[in-house]
Amino acid sequence: MSRPVRAIFFDAGNTLIRMDYTVILAELARLGVPVTLAALERAEWRARVRLDASFAPGASTEHPDTGERYLRFILDELGVRDATIQAALSAWRRNYDAPMGLWTALEPEADAGLRLARERGLRTAVISNSNGTVADILAHLGLAQHLDFIIDSSKVGVEKPDPRIFRLALERTGLAPEEAVYVGDLYSIDVVGARAAGLRAILMDPGACWGDRDCPLARTALEAVKHVLSELYR
Ligand SMILES: [Mg+2]
Repeated sequence: MSRPVRAIFFDAGNTLIRMDYTVILAELARLGVPVTLAALERAEWRARVRLDASFAPGASTEHPDTGERYLRFILDELGVRDATIQAALSAWRRNYDAPMGLWTALEPEADAGLRLARERGLRTAVISNSNGTVADILAHLGLAQHLDFIIDSSKVGVEKPDPRIFRLALERTGLAPEEAVYVGDLYSIDVVGARAAGLRAILMDPGACWGDRDCPLARTALEAVKHVLSELYR
């Protein structure tokens, strides 16, 4: 019988926080491309699967090319293939509110998921590939109060999927790998990385876009926490 889970570690982007879709929709409208929130969400769900498949082995998710490629996939999924519009939106994104950028909105049920995990006695933390801003964003959105600690790859000098970043979190909690579960939205970065450190992993899949994967799927962080609290893990 495996040991009970005592901690849930979360990815930040597309797991607890998301891009501010309101401002993206406004900018698209300004460029003459009216898009609904539902269409943008759907496009992003599909784009992240393509982004995951696009990383070269060992490539950093924090390379400037990543954001460009991700945006191009989202626009492509929206059917926006006009090079002028693609270039205009790319330039707008690069200059938008640096260094925080667009990742300043809450994922649905993120707050509820963290609260439930804490209520049930689980340790909670974030392990994020970020540029040094994730702790400020999580504090601004009111999530930091529900987290024991936040690991930002740019501050510790190692990034997912390198198992060392997951081991840092285990060291901070004094837990064995089998006592922690990781929740993230990119299979080859989050699930593969966490497993390489011996943790179990749950893949965020709000739009049922990942197909048949060899790990539990969750639509929201709350659903992931419920997975962990279920018979599957206890
Ligand atoms: Mg993410």
